[in-house]
Amino acid sequence: MFTAFLIKYAEIGIKGRNRYLFEDALVHQIKFALKKCDGEFLIHKTQGRIYVDAQSEFDFDEVVAQLKTVFGISGICPVVHVEDEGFEKLCDTVIKYLADVYPDRNKTFKVAARRARKNYPKDSMTINMDMGEAILKAYPEMKVDVHDPDIMLNVEIREKIYIYSEIIPGPGGMPVGTGGKAMLLLSGGIDSPVAGYMIAKRGVKIDAVYFHAPPYTSERAKQKVVDLARLVSRYTGPINLHVINFTDIQLYIYEKCPHEELTIIMRRYMMRIAEHIAKESDCLGLITGESIGQVASQTMASLVATNEVCELPVYRPLIGFDKQEIVEVSEKIGTYETSIQPFEDCCTIFVAKHPVTKPNVNVIRRHEQNLDEKIEQLVQKALETDEVILVE
Ligand code: ATP
Ligand code: MG
Repeated sequence: MFTAFLIKYAEIGIKGRNRYLFEDALVHQIKFALKKCDGEFLIHKTQGRIYVDAQSEFDFDEVVAQLKTVFGISGICPVVHVEDEGFEKLCDTVIKYLADVYPDRNKTFKVAARRARKNYPKDSMTINMDMGEAILKAYPEMKVDVHDPDIMLNVEIREKIYIYSEIIPGPGGMPVGTGGKAMLLLSGGIDSPVAGYMIAKRGVKIDAVYFHAPPYTSERAKQKVVDLARLVSRYTGPINLHVINFTDIQLYIYEKCPHEELTIIMRRYMMRIAEHIAKESDCLGLITGESIGQVASQTMASLVATNEVCELPVYRPLIGFDKQEIVEVSEKIGTYETSIQPFEDCCTIFVAKHPVTKPNVNVIRRHEQNLDEKIEQLVQKALETDEVILVE
């Protein structure tokens, strides 16, 4: 019965030119999301509102599920469109609508009419009153409450008449594309996909980089990262996933540096390479899934050591999250089941028994000097292995 959706978005703070950018980006993202659904849809902005009009048959649940992935949408209102065939006919339609949508009608309601087409014979106040009366007559169990109704029955008089009363919550946030681009360090774990989701939610477009270490990490481990990128791309739009072969760098660090510093030095090289690719891809920041104290390489002291090798800001949206809180988000966004598949990631192979938890930056720098010029060649070589996979 529903033939359209009214898209609600938070308008606070988006005035003037920004408002157009916000709305245009939102329309663009909605179009992208609905490409994956069966059916034809017309997405249009009319008088400061965004509507999705179905032009053909469609699967309601599928469309709602897709709209729930579009950042910037705060609410999704399913709309019934009817032709204007006079006020009495409209009241009959509304009465039938209430029966269909609310099997239990022991509820309070309010009619909120809006006369966008001014030649309609009744003004909005009159519509509210007359339609309210017709509803009460049809359903004596219902009551009017103009302050806090259970059902806010919206009736918009346009070329056609729009009826809606339900608001399905959207994901909130800002439309992707309104906030620049950042490079996500994406591993096969639980945390980094969630980190990418959270930054994208603020309107930031995402590219990603994965460091793999064949033969220590398998093709299957790489496929898992591609799968995770695909799950994240449901929300972010297409992701360019850079896969970098990190094996030689890792082996060389293993050979030359104290094993308890291995993770931290490896992490520094990951950040350097990620930053290089980020700058080439016009990214304005890096994103990681780190959270303070989660493992040895994520203590405050370790974060100082990993941070100092790059100039771009490093965004760590999970920094204050407990593992359980991160797991909850990953379940909500649908990455958890994939993240827990048991494939080694490149750090688990080379982990030391007793990694440093309070690395001293000066000591780390000194030990990195053991790597001399050869490491620059290896970094160059690793960059040449960059395989870009477009994930969407
Ligand atoms: P995750 O669940 O995201 O794997 P984690 O708890 O396993 O995180 P670490 O392995 O210490 O934590 O990694 C910290 C962060 O460093 C990750 O969240 C990710 O952003 C980045 N990272 C780690 N390994 C890789 C990798 N192989 N490729 C790309 N990024 C990585
Ligand atoms: Mg990991």
